[in-house]
Amino acid sequence: MPYAPDLLLVNANVLTMDPARPRASAVAVAGGRIVGVGDDTAELAGGARARDVLDLKGATLIPGFHDAHNHMIGFGLSVTEIDLRVDSLDELYARVAARAAATPAGEWIVGAGYDQTKTGAHPHRDALDRVAPGHRVWLKHTSSHMCAVNSLVLRDLGIDAAAPHVDGGRVAADAAGRPTGLMEERAQERVGDLTRPYPLALLTDAVATAGETYLREGLTSVTEAGVGGGWVGQSPVELAAYVAAREQGRLHVRAELMVISDAFHALTAHPSDGIEIGIDLGLRTGFGDDWLRLGPMKVFTDGSLVGRTAAMSAPYDGDPGNSGYLQADAGHLARTIIAAHQAGWRVAAHAIGDRAIDLALDAFDAAASRHPRRDPRHRIEHFAAARPDQVARAAALGVIPVGQGRFATEIGDGMLASVGPDRHPWLYRQRSVLDAGVVLPGSSDRPVVTGTPLLGIHDMVNRRTASGAPFNAVEAITAEEALRAYTWGSAYASKAEHVKGSVEVGKLADFAVLSEDPTAVSPDRIAGLEVIATIVDGVLRYSALG
Ligand SMILES: [Zn+2]
Repeated sequence: MPYAPDLLLVNANVLTMDPARPRASAVAVAGGRIVGVGDDTAELAGGARARDVLDLKGATLIPGFHDAHNHMIGFGLSVTEIDLRVDSLDELYARVAARAAATPAGEWIVGAGYDQTKTGAHPHRDALDRVAPGHRVWLKHTSSHMCAVNSLVLRDLGIDAAAPHVDGGRVAADAAGRPTGLMEERAQERVGDLTRPYPLALLTDAVATAGETYLREGLTSVTEAGVGGGWVGQSPVELAAYVAAREQGRLHVRAELMVISDAFHALTAHPSDGIEIGIDLGLRTGFGDDWLRLGPMKVFTDGSLVGRTAAMSAPYDGDPGNSGYLQADAGHLARTIIAAHQAGWRVAAHAIGDRAIDLALDAFDAAASRHPRRDPRHRIEHFAAARPDQVARAAALGVIPVGQGRFATEIGDGMLASVGPDRHPWLYRQRSVLDAGVVLPGSSDRPVVTGTPLLGIHDMVNRRTASGAPFNAVEAITAEEALRAYTWGSAYASKAEHVKGSVEVGKLADFAVLSEDPTAVSPDRIAGLEVIATIVDGVLRYSALG
């Protein structure tokens, strides 16, 4: 029976990501789904007249970008924070002073993005007291795995004079035992506890604010890497902010939410269910719909490379006593991963250092042999410093490494310095991952670095640091492979490749339109390409088309 498409996209250079039909020039959409892909516009229209026709005048149409690891609410909130991506502590303190001058005394001053490898040192509480004497100051490191606070905050926490021991974290102190203001890993939770939980209305606004930026960048799906607790979550009822945004028509992109392991608790189900831990009602991975869905359990096994807290099997370069640490007891982390697997969750284990990656792979291995499950599709977030044997093992276990291309430019120099030249070949592998037959997703970890997908793709191809040094360049991939990662690969990592990630009949009508074809320009130009339109669910939601 003839049908009338809602929308016909014509004169496009369509990169479908569908190996069976890599290219086309027109796409027909009806009811939010793709109903035709081809070259014959009249045939695609099915003899009927499309309600809308969009002439793309030769622009490149791809499946919408999917960021497989971002912090959407964190990014939405960060818009109001001081930008601390500076090259010196003097500049950092000047920015804090300027904000203090414009902020009523007693209120919080929050900044983010400083990198001690660029400023020379972490901000110190005494200096912060001088530039913001009447305020509470909270400055987040670029990795978000540590922060610096001033004396008022330390006083609120009752740790002004002496540093307490913190499991899975550290309150840094000077030689005399006086806290310096630096709080690492789980110690940050105490600072967060002074301000969180945030009100749902604020979090709902953050979802909307972030989504507006995402549409301008061609993103149509994101995976949120941890809600509901811990130091990365904003509220125990965080999911409700996404539901509210959706009700208000302000959830602009599709969202898959990871639930932080801190929100898990013991459940009393029937013994035959194998559900020992989870969240209430038995909600788990897969619950939801194409707009809003529960994703994996997120568990932090270790910290950050630039911050030198990630768990390595050998010490950091020039730092003989320090090989980082795990965020909790190894046995406890493994049991949590195995129990979540048994209860039907996919698991996303944050593991940066090779010692943490071993822990995650061991746990996935044990989970699979004790509780066999078809295609559990677990993930390792970052997989930052991975030995060659770990790539092979991830492949054998079907575990997906979720790397961040943009880290090369923005924190690559710091990472190279942390691990030293012998371990440079371990960093953020892509080529060896693909060659091992593993699917590679694309992600940013925004707001840790700029989240624009085209910048991520640029770095996945070019692999250079801010100083111009090659960033483990043998792991570079082609623009085609990087585009596929940021679309189909991320859909696969969400176990959603049957509904999105390629331009195929029956899939969701989510597209980005690019000014030029990233696979046809010279690699150094990819970052300069523009997103000229974004379509989600068959609706044009962003357009810079003339
Ligand atoms: Zn993250």
